[in-house]
Amino acid sequence: LYARARQVIAGGVSSDARRLPGTPLYVDRAQGSRLWDADGNAYIDYVLGQGPAILGHSPDVLADAVAAQMRRGVTYSAQHLTEIEVAERIRSMVPCAELIRFNSVGSEAAHAALRLARGHTGRDKVIKFEGHYHGWFDPVLFSVHPPLDAAGPADRPVAVPGSGGQLPGQAADLVLTRWNDLDALTDTVARHRGEIAAVVMEPVLCNSGAITPDDAYLSAVRRICDDEGILLIFDEVITGFRVAPGGAQERLGITPDIGVFGKAMAGGMQVSALAGKAAVMETIASGKVSHAGTFNSHPVAMAGARAVLEVLDEKRDDIYPEMERRGRRLMDGFAAIASRLGVPMLVQGTGHLFQTYLTGRPDVRDYREFAATDRATMARLHGLLLEEGINMVPRGLWFLSAAHTDDDIDATLAAFENALAKLS
Ligand code: PMP
Repeated sequence: LYARARQVIAGGVSSDARRLPGTPLYVDRAQGSRLWDADGNAYIDYVLGQGPAILGHSPDVLADAVAAQMRRGVTYSAQHLTEIEVAERIRSMVPCAELIRFNSVGSEAAHAALRLARGHTGRDKVIKFEGHYHGWFDPVLFSVHPPLDAAGPADRPVAVPGSGGQLPGQAADLVLTRWNDLDALTDTVARHRGEIAAVVMEPVLCNSGAITPDDAYLSAVRRICDDEGILLIFDEVITGFRVAPGGAQERLGITPDIGVFGKAMAGGMQVSALAGKAAVMETIASGKVSHAGTFNSHPVAMAGARAVLEVLDEKRDDIYPEMERRGRRLMDGFAAIASRLGVPMLVQGTGHLFQTYLTGRPDVRDYREFAATDRATMARLHGLLLEEGINMVPRGLWFLSAAHTDDDIDATLAAFENALAKLS
């Protein structure tokens, strides 16, 4: 299949994120906590499409809602009841969500959030943090890291040493600084005082390790933004509706001015949302900042969102604690297995999602520490786990769903022990 795909699909894969050494996994079907490859092999899946399948793959509630809406009839670029109902549900679940707008994918909504912040404040610069990912759109939303390795994409902007984090060329309005480091932020804000529209972050850093920031840091960021007239944007494309019904802002107790949502909010259908304080969102409502998209609020995807959010909201007392408990069983089990086998390993996260690191460090607090861990060996572990019927995100990230059972956890722990034993 890979050879055939390469004849017609550039690189044989649909995203750079899926470019790994060796032959990619070609998925035939996915149900609940499982997926099956084209040869019929089954895997317990902790990738969940990079996070969305929070109720597991293709749950009946989603399949039924989507099929019913398709049969009922669909048109685009028009207003409809489902859109209002989904917005009402989000407002009732998410602390910052006074007004909402919809897009199709996370990159779009993140882009819309920055455009809104610039339009609302009349300022151009945005503070972004090392290792935080806000979608793949350029110029300003490209995945901006210090170089991970020499073989990284050639178009990746790189902070110039001594520039104070200012990026050259296409991303000139983007100011890059270190996360979870109050001195770095204070210094950056002081150097660009009066010019910064927004600070954007993943409130739990998921794209470079599963890192919850220090409490004191997040409340200080909120205070600095208030004092300086800067909008705080939480990119909750991964954390939204996952680490709590109201996302990281509910879990960590800090409310941003704008939240960006995607992935889990429709359980696997393509919907994203921009949700924020009314005074900020009114800049869109008044037409001062444009927001468009033919497929925004697509009725089929919105019917999926309505069905999935209803389940997440109404069964919140069951789904979230259970997902966390099963995730923590894996986290504790992996750490115990690693210590028994004498493999240095750190397991860190919230349970609903977590990261395994091959490191003897007691914790990992930001992107630089993440980048210094042994990710090449982690990618090898990914391959060994696949042979054992377990699929994790190759960099060592694990997503739980409401469909994972305690039997899945037991089977995964046994498989993990086998894979880890083969690693050394
Ligand atoms: N923000 C974050 C935090 C993400 O993790 C992602 C995707 N991994 C995006 C934005 C972009 O979302 P999408 O891939 O749906 O465009």
